[in-house]
Amino acid sequence: MKEKVAIIGSGLGGMASAIRLKSRGYDVTVFEKNHQVGGKMGQIHTQGCRFDTGPSVFTMPELVDQLFAEAGENPDDYYRYKKLDLSCRYLYEDGTSIDAFSDPEAFAWELSKKTGEPTDNIHRFLAKSRTIYNLTADLFMFHSIHDPKALFTFRNLKALMQFGKIDAFRTMHQSNKQSFQSEQLVQLFDRYATYNGSNPYQIPATFNIISHLEHNMGVYYPEGGIYAIADAMRRLMKKMKIKIHLNQPVRKLVPEGRSIRGVVTDFGEDHFDHVISNMDVNLFYESLLPDERKLNKTRKPEKSSSALIFYWDIEKEFPALNLHNILFSEDYPREFEYLFSEKQIYSDPTVYIYISSKAVTGDAPRGGENWYVMINAPEDTGQNWSQLRREARKNIIAKINRVLGTQIQQHIGHEQVYDPPAIESHTASYHGSLYGNSSNGRFAAFNRHSNFSRKYKNLYFTGGSVHPGGGIPLVLSGARIVSEKILRHEH
Ligand SMILES: Cc1cc2nc3c(=O)[nH]c(=O)nc-3n(C[C@H](O)[C@H](O)[C@H](O)COP(=O)(O)OP(=O)(O)OC[C@H]3O[C@@H](n4cnc5c(N)ncnc54)[C@H](O)[C@@H]3O)c2cc1C
Repeated sequence: MKEKVAIIGSGLGGMASAIRLKSRGYDVTVFEKNHQVGGKMGQIHTQGCRFDTGPSVFTMPELVDQLFAEAGENPDDYYRYKKLDLSCRYLYEDGTSIDAFSDPEAFAWELSKKTGEPTDNIHRFLAKSRTIYNLTADLFMFHSIHDPKALFTFRNLKALMQFGKIDAFRTMHQSNKQSFQSEQLVQLFDRYATYNGSNPYQIPATFNIISHLEHNMGVYYPEGGIYAIADAMRRLMKKMKIKIHLNQPVRKLVPEGRSIRGVVTDFGEDHFDHVISNMDVNLFYESLLPDERKLNKTRKPEKSSSALIFYWDIEKEFPALNLHNILFSEDYPREFEYLFSEKQIYSDPTVYIYISSKAVTGDAPRGGENWYVMINAPEDTGQNWSQLRREARKNIIAKINRVLGTQIQQHIGHEQVYDPPAIESHTASYHGSLYGNSSNGRFAAFNRHSNFSRKYKNLYFTGGSVHPGGGIPLVLSGARIVSEKILRHEH
């Protein structure tokens, strides 16, 4: 008889695990508390526009393609994507505008032209990021670091012997400052710390691999916007006859000895051979399988940052902007002090503007644009969010007006706002953190919860709050680690 698997949550980690296990013959059921799949990868519609609500930068699309291949399907039949020629436009208050071209040669020339940085420095930096990726990815991204059998392979031991080369002993900022003469470039490359909700002044320089993903491997964009990825996975699950129960939160798990015996929803208790939690691990130990000791442990590490996002229907077109745009703060160290030490929002925040209507006709009415305007925000520790929202909105508008020479407030139609408490309630992420724990610290990777329970032999974990961490590529990789562990019947 087929073994039965319950998956709690239809975030990317949950859906990817479901597809992998179903394609190997398991009987899979996904429980989702929301009305749509995708978790943090969500979308909303206003009267005039469609918005992706969560992720906007898509790297390593091959990890999504692999899921379709596992299921014997062609990803092109479900969704299509292309590599962006221009991954981001960076705007500074002194009028400097830098285009991050996907071609590394063109990118280096652009940086050199705009900032005077020798192109050699840029090539050297990107080559080093590639080396770090090649040394660390297999160990930290594609395997469980909590599983001695997976960890102590010849390849991984070889990588560990080269630990000195992975730049773990200084911070990203220290490394970038030594790599570049231009302060503007230091800031540009420091920003990659925020791709996993961390602080460039604390995160180890090893995480410069993030700029490798973007500049050596490329940024991609799906036809129809980012939510097209979640929707393609939903359609694949439907075709595979995976049972998906929307609006059906799992209320608790029933342990018996060293196993989870039952999964309880509003419709009663069901038995499964394996249970995979795709929900935030802090909330899991708070509500589904209360465990004070585990909770203290998972809550302790510093959480990644959250976000304050305004979704604006803009009644005008702005040719000066691209799909992804960054308007940098003039005082980056201060911005991060506010975020991580004071748990507040700085008055001159770095503003990210993502305009999917630049690539997806129909995401905004003709003559208008859909602006997803995001600043980094601290995790929710009980701040006065209505006051912070009000002040941040005023400061963001002032910044946009200064940098773009406009009066943006005159062009904002409908507005919707997500702050950290809203992100927590919509996506069930502890304190509204976008990526689980922060990576601020040399041992942060080792503090993440593992992909399997040591106490219950049929309980597994996937998603951004557990190993290997948050972000689309890591979450998909975590789903593979979990599925392979179940397939190997190792646990
Ligand atoms: C604003 C924002 C911007 C981001 N930007 C990027 C980006 O540009 N690039 C990138 O790669 N990543 C980005 N990320 C991170 C990325 O979106 C996440 O790491 C990833 O989508 C998380 O997937 P997950 O598997 O952890 O599941 P989640 O998305 O966390 O989903 C978990 C699911 O579990 C469900 N659930 C929870 N509890 C229960 C329960 N008891 N019963 C049933 N269901 C339950 C939830 O409703 C949810 O659907 C961003 C995230 C956010 C929020």
